[in-house]
Amino acid sequence: MRIAIGGIATECCTFSPILSREKDFVVQELEDILDDERYPFLKEAEAEIFPTFRARALPGGQVERATYENFKARFLDHLQAALPLDGLYLDMHGAMNVEGMDDAEGDWYASARKVVGQDCLISASYDLHGNLSERILQNLDMLTAYRTAPHVDTLETRSKAFSMLVTCLEQNIRPEKVWIPVPVLVAGERSSTEYEPAASLYAKLGDVDPIPGIMDASILVGYVWADEPRATASIVLTGTDRIVMEREAKKLALEYWKTRDEFGFSVPHGSIKEAIDWALTQDNNCLFISDSGDNPTAGGVGDRVDFLKALLEHKVENAVLGGIADETATMACYAAGLGETVELSLGGSLDKATMPLPLTAKVLFLKETSELRERIAVAQVEGVTVVISHKRRPFHEEADFLALGINPEDYKMIVVKVGYLVPDLKRIAKGIYLALSPGVVDQAIERLPYSRWQRPRFPLDKNFFWYPELK
Ligand SMILES: [Zn+2]
Repeated sequence: MRIAIGGIATECCTFSPILSREKDFVVQELEDILDDERYPFLKEAEAEIFPTFRARALPGGQVERATYENFKARFLDHLQAALPLDGLYLDMHGAMNVEGMDDAEGDWYASARKVVGQDCLISASYDLHGNLSERILQNLDMLTAYRTAPHVDTLETRSKAFSMLVTCLEQNIRPEKVWIPVPVLVAGERSSTEYEPAASLYAKLGDVDPIPGIMDASILVGYVWADEPRATASIVLTGTDRIVMEREAKKLALEYWKTRDEFGFSVPHGSIKEAIDWALTQDNNCLFISDSGDNPTAGGVGDRVDFLKALLEHKVENAVLGGIADETATMACYAAGLGETVELSLGGSLDKATMPLPLTAKVLFLKETSELRERIAVAQVEGVTVVISHKRRPFHEEADFLALGINPEDYKMIVVKVGYLVPDLKRIAKGIYLALSPGVVDQAIERLPYSRWQRPRFPLDKNFFWYPELK
């Protein structure tokens, strides 16, 4: 068996003003792709593996067209060189949007299909926050997606996509797919599988998979911050018995549709002001507040200062803000030096909806990791300890703070640019609050200027009839 491996993975918020360019991606080609930690299952595979091209980036804005075309050309060149192929495994995300191209994954697969031919089987692993299209389903032979959000089953999902491919090749099966788009699209924070209704919906997949004739059943919540026609939730089944697959897909789709009103936040939530008021009435330290509208791992810009402004206005003492992406301000802190006072014009320059915040800060900590060429400064602004990074990045782990000399337990509240709290911060949090702060990944999606979704689509539209139909 000759199997090629490759892919491209990112999540693109079409409301973001920042284009994702080549420098934002981690690119691996040929042998570099064969990472034992990411693909431990390849070692045991009784197949000849041909690594091609893989790129991945932190969620952000649309991918620059030239970057995409360059990546695609490199991928197709390596694919061509690996011919003839029996199978192709693509390690994807599923919510990429390229300048002037709405269905980027569809383009990627259609281009790959032209190279590998109709007989080659193509399998893809997805994030459950991916959007599908007819062209995607026409060119893929099988697909499986994460079943957990926060995502803790990423390895299992990649492994399953690969093993389904091997099984089909060994048994000479060309699988069928059944896809039902469900006209519901909610943010990941409303559909965490740690809470209802997503917990029960995803638990059902474990009962569907073992049904004879079904190889995989997947539910995709979809990616809400893409203003593109294909954006919606999906039920996708891969298998061999079309009748059974259609029956089970319709059941899952109907369940999803019926629970649409129940997708809520499951944690205390409210405005920035309400979040601060909440924290000030709690007895504990180590309270975590999500500045959710500016979460870089959902595609947020990461330089908004709405929360910092509010903390200063409320004269909050003993708070941490992690973090604000601002290259100029980071460099100004480095130029000033440790323990020095510096005038900053902080954040608010990438997200054009905001303005930089002028302030006086004392430099507490400077971090430089030569390996990543990454600079991070910690500065004290009145009662708030602010983390300022030269690159857009998340601070989503306890270790991210400890490495900066910040022990979250010593602070009353820690404001993090995140959506739902990732497990590592949840573990240490003595209280959790989701602030529905503004930004390009605003949780209150009705505040965003959608114009290209297919309508009706819940929750932008509420009163309409729908019944599962196969695509
Ligand atoms: Zn995701």
